Amino acid sequence: MRRWEYIQRDKKALRSWFNGKKGKISWDMNSFLKWYQYQEKVCRYCGVSEKTCQEVIHKGLLNSKRFATEGVFARGVNRGYWLEIDRKEPNEPYSENNCVLACYFCNNDKSDVFNEKQYLEFKENRSDFLRKLILKENETLSK
Ligand SMILES: [Zn+2]
Repeated sequence: MRRWEYIQRDKKALRSWFNGKKGKISWDMNSFLKWYQYQEKVCRYCGVSEKTCQEVIHKGLLNSKRFATEGVFARGVNRGYWLEIDRKEPNEPYSENNCVLACYFCNNDKSDVFNEKQYLEFKENRSDFLRKLILKENETLSK
């Protein structure tokens, strides 16, 4: 097994991510890079550190065809190694106010289904959250 040592996402990868978001981003490159540099590298939703995620993925302790196991990246095989840039409001553009870092697991789970506030509630108690949605709807209907 290739030895693991934590590595931060490099600027080249961040620029490439940025350039891939054209039309969905209201941020300039330099502000984005600065924002990223100063973010604590822990998931907004579950608090796991990037370092922990990276070690698990690198060592193949969990597997997915999307994971860069042993640090081997390819097209479509690049998830899990670094925290991902998540939009708090999934349908709003990427911007300083709308972005947080999230681990693969939370980001994948949150998807475009939940906004930040909803997902924080949902992850605490999934079944309660869903049942509350139905209750709220019923209250609205009975008004
Ligand atoms: Zn997480």
